[in-house]
Amino acid sequence: MLSNLERSAYILVNLDSLAHNISVLRSRCPSKKTGVISVVKAGAYGHGSVMVSHHLKNIGVERLAVAIVDEGIHLRKHHVKGPIHVFGNVQSWEMHSCLQYNLIPTVCDEKAVLTMAETLNKTKTNGEQLSGPIISDDIIYQSDVPQGSVNIKIDTGMSRNGCQPDDLPKLIKICQDHDIHVDAVFTHFADSWGNKEFTEMQLDTFLKATEPLKSLGIKRHASNSGAILRCYGTDLDYIRPGISMYGLPPDNASEEFKAFGLKPVASMVSYPTLIKRLQDGRKVGYGCTYTADNEQSIATFPVGYADGYWRHLSGKGFVIRDNSGERCPVVGRVSMDAITVRVPADTSLSETFTLMSADYDPLTSASGIADIVGTISYEVATRLSTRFPRLYT
Ligand code: PLP
Repeated sequence: MLSNLERSAYILVNLDSLAHNISVLRSRCPSKKTGVISVVKAGAYGHGSVMVSHHLKNIGVERLAVAIVDEGIHLRKHHVKGPIHVFGNVQSWEMHSCLQYNLIPTVCDEKAVLTMAETLNKTKTNGEQLSGPIISDDIIYQSDVPQGSVNIKIDTGMSRNGCQPDDLPKLIKICQDHDIHVDAVFTHFADSWGNKEFTEMQLDTFLKATEPLKSLGIKRHASNSGAILRCYGTDLDYIRPGISMYGLPPDNASEEFKAFGLKPVASMVSYPTLIKRLQDGRKVGYGCTYTADNEQSIATFPVGYADGYWRHLSGKGFVIRDNSGERCPVVGRVSMDAITVRVPADTSLSETFTLMSADYDPLTSASGIADIVGTISYEVATRLSTRFPRLYT
């Protein structure tokens, strides 16, 4: 399996699990008309945005979304077609790139709309060349959303990006006056998994502000993972899954979350690169934090905190010996490029170990690791370094 890799550690991405998760998430929507905008920002939450995006398109996901313009350009340069949203607060000076690569920017003020109008106008009247030389128009413009369309974000309580709900009619009027097509209006929930009252308040604010838009044919979307699982806003035009699409929980992997039957998509696998037999009393790793208290085997794996293997797992983490299922403790400090693990004496260099498992194991899964190191699955997944090769199965 490793013959074409230059590294004996890799992230295994199970595309069947991704497809399974999409169908679970679609089943939360009362109508088949509700489409999916899959969130593939931050390298598809560490899973590799290009391959994941192509696969999502192949299995019929309607749209994709990234956080920043650069991420959208990256996808276009890797031949990803169809509508791609940029959900971050896109700045005026980025509008040209949005047009050039046919990305749908999020706007929330007049200046951004006017810049989009001006840029679009220039290309229409001066015939200014938009597409870059290396990408064919077929890739960039194969989308059912007209070029130069925008999405408007409204802030319904998170106090981050987005215009105030009261400013929406004015902004839409500005778009209409400048021939800018408003594809959709959306909002984002602050705590859709954990806080029912707040989410209901946000949804209510959103629905009231956007009700008049229905007659204008402007679409609406609101639901991130927590909201999809709890069915808030799943009857709108699109749902926008991120973390749940990768099979990971918005909070911890509670029984309630696990009951949805999602499947974690990524695991981290490695071969040991060296196995040493240590005598009683020998120290291991930086800071000499571990002392062998009997004769034992210590395996070095070529993965460290620079790869997204958390330093906080020093002396706390476990890896799984794949051919027996046995858990082996990470001993000594996690360093930048290596970890050391106490392994059974018969371990060989030709066997694999799972360093992060595609399940909800409290010690070895992404969600378990998140609990151990005091963070969330989002951070564990997105920190998986680009240094890892990704293998797609
Ligand atoms: N929608 C928007 C606008 C987002 O910014 C994000 C992620 O932060 C998502 C959807 C996906 O959220 P989640 O990963 O919680 O599903």
